[in-house]
Amino acid sequence: MTLSTELEREPIDCRTAVKQLWDYLDRELDAVRMAEVTAHVERCAACREHFQFALSFLRALSASRSDVPDAAALRLRVVEALKREGFSSDA
Ligand SMILES: [Zn+2]
Repeated sequence: MTLSTELEREPIDCRTAVKQLWDYLDRELDAVRMAEVTAHVERCAACREHFQFALSFLRALSASRSDVPDAAALRLRVVEALKREGFSSDA
């Protein structure tokens, strides 16, 4: 019996990956979780599509930030809307 799971960490599933999508894109996850999500997205086409869409969205928002005084609130509204559409799994 070993206490160490470092070498045999189970890959995360889609639900876990998508749930962490926004934190991942904001780089608010720790290094281990970042790596887990990256690994999942690299081999899961469905999640990759989600992540790339979210990433383009954030980039577009960031690019237009100077024109949008309330970008943070706007982003929050869009993220919430996406979540309602099932973009992110409910925790
Ligand atoms: Zn997936």
